[in-house]
Amino acid sequence: MLNIDLHCHSNVSDGVLSPAEVVARAAANGVDALALTDHDDVAGLVAAQAAADAIGLTLIKGVEISVSWGGQTVHIVGLRVDPAHPDLADGLYDIRLGRIERARRMGDDLAQSGIFGAYEGAYDYAVNKQMVGRTHFARWLVAQGHAPDIRTAFRRFLTRGNPGYVEHEWTTLENAVGWIRASGGMAVVAHPGRYAFNARELHLFLDAFRALGGEGIEVITGSHHPSEYGKFADLARAFGLKASRGADFHAPGEGIDIGRLPALPHYCQPVWQDWPELATHLLPH
Ligand code: AMP
Ligand code: MN
Ligand code: MN
Ligand code: MN
Repeated sequence: MLNIDLHCHSNVSDGVLSPAEVVARAAANGVDALALTDHDDVAGLVAAQAAADAIGLTLIKGVEISVSWGGQTVHIVGLRVDPAHPDLADGLYDIRLGRIERARRMGDDLAQSGIFGAYEGAYDYAVNKQMVGRTHFARWLVAQGHAPDIRTAFRRFLTRGNPGYVEHEWTTLENAVGWIRASGGMAVVAHPGRYAFNARELHLFLDAFRALGGEGIEVITGSHHPSEYGKFADLARAFGLKASRGADFHAPGEGIDIGRLPALPHYCQPVWQDWPELATHLLPH
């Protein structure tokens, strides 16, 4: 079986490994094709491609775009995007400007609770200074002794109703899917099990996503409990969406490792079924 992992992060966003290190880890784990999908930035793809070429791994150019929809933050993964396309590049740049402004407000909010210097601390943790995110705040809060681990840092801080959480308006679903499609890519709903939607809201969301030209949904992801795989495989089929598989790897020792996931259920139509770069891999033999 081909080992295809279509969701992971480098230190261009909130992962800890460089793009080349992510590719090397994927190869060591037996991955045949890997998508690097950093949050709101495509700056890691050049180094990832060079590493993939040297090692003989197929790299899928990806991105994970932050979107506001129905009062929630949702993530849309773009696969096989053209990182140089101006609609995509300019749109992502605007999101990153918003992140810097949000990070300042997060720092101010934590200061209200007596935790000072968080913005500067998180900024130090971010390798890409345009991509400061909640994970960088979480790493700093742990290092400062405000929480024992990343999970607890998110539970005590940085999540709705807690210090360090500020509302933020990301881009629209229409923009995210539109930029991905304009650049030649396929739009995929990331980790649908993570959103606080009820069944009706989730169906409305998937209808809207499809109507905009969205084509895929993650079924097997590090964010889903194995007991949820069947539910999302059924949902993919019911909505005519192709199924994706990705660990959402961020760091060694945190969550599922790259390529270490079960296969898609056999009745799913994989997002990669018509991709020419995988055609030689997929020939029957
Ligand atoms: P941001 O886009 O800056 O709001 O940060 C979102 C990122 O935070 C996600 O991509 C995850 O990497 C991380 N994250 C969100 N919630 C949690 C959680 N409960 N535990 C650990 N990491 C989380
Ligand atoms: Mn992340
Ligand atoms: Mn995500
Ligand atoms: Mn992710």
